[in-house]
Amino acid sequence: GPVLGLEASCDETAAAVLAPDGTVLAEAVRSQLAEHTPFGGVVPEIAARAHLAHLPALTADVLARAGVKAADLGGIAATSGPGLIGGLIVCATFGKGMALAHDLPFVAVNHLEGHALTARLPGLVEGGAKFPYLLLLLSGGHCQCVAVEGLGQYRRLGSTLDDAVGEAFDKSAKLMGLPWPGGPALEKLAQTGDPKRFPLPRPMLGRPGCDFSFSGLKTAVAQTIPKLQTEQDRADLAAAFQRVVAAVLADRAKNALGMMDGATAMVVAGGVAANQAVRTALAGVAEKHGLPLVAPPIRLCTDNAVMIAWAGIERLRAGLTDPLDHAPRPRWPLAELAA
Ligand code: ATP
Ligand code: MG
Ligand code: FE
Repeated sequence: GPVLGLEASCDETAAAVLAPDGTVLAEAVRSQLAEHTPFGGVVPEIAARAHLAHLPALTADVLARAGVKAADLGGIAATSGPGLIGGLIVCATFGKGMALAHDLPFVAVNHLEGHALTARLPGLVEGGAKFPYLLLLLSGGHCQCVAVEGLGQYRRLGSTLDDAVGEAFDKSAKLMGLPWPGGPALEKLAQTGDPKRFPLPRPMLGRPGCDFSFSGLKTAVAQTIPKLQTEQDRADLAAAFQRVVAAVLADRAKNALGMMDGATAMVVAGGVAANQAVRTALAGVAEKHGLPLVAPPIRLCTDNAVMIAWAGIERLRAGLTDPLDHAPRPRWPLAELAA
């Protein structure tokens, strides 16, 4: 039967019902932007309470729109880590409760595996991306190059030594006086800017391997702020920042491809994959290697429950389920996943 996916690891509450072949029957995402905006960032306790308040109604809604009764589901897939522990407890406990009540298999999904397997949704690429492929996970909390070799088989090729790339966008945007979350606002401002006006460092560019570092770039942005007077100045700095980030990501992606054998595609995931300059830079690298760039639609790049349901489907197909005493894990590296 269809699989219900549940997501509540950060500040999006989401539910989705997918048919066993990956067809999306219904999906819903409720952002907590309004709750957290007054604080300029995600407040964990507020997030957990909001997830608890909204997850039951979102679930009822997607089941109704999918035309599926809970008892007829083939399984429940709930994000169980990594993320904010309060939301994870809400998500996993709600999922386990439903699994227990309706005698359904339960899958404790690693949120990062959800991002990693999104490209395998049959509707995205003809038949879904084939193993192995390079995953660039570019979000607010993560910045990694991962060799996706099979279900549950992830080799981390490189990651950030300090800030995640989305965090760099958010912090730099804040310094520029832009509203939270900064990534989309910075991209909009950069559209009218001259990227060559302010020279910024290009951290890690040209170094071996595919690690990242963004804290120096953020510092350089902070040091440039006093020079800004006009709206055009701000746009120029935003454009310079964005160009450097795109160049660094492209350089790291190029090295990551060199560290893999037989990659069939370059795949991007995470909120920063929504950035057009980033997508264009990565598409250039993929093309040089003769590979397709698989960039899911933005709603599937940011946190959602479609990817959780899909990871659940892949695991159920492989006969992998989890016991109802599975404990949520706020830290849960991809490399520690069993399959
Ligand atoms: P994680 O998934 O790692 O737990 P998260 O929930 O913060 O973290 P996402 O929801 O995938 O991650 O992405 C949010 C991040 O993406 C934020 O840092 C946001 O600023 C950034 N972002 C979103 N849209 C854009 C854009 N157009 N340009 C640049 N950054 C963007
Ligand atoms: Mg988020
Ligand atoms: Fe995420």
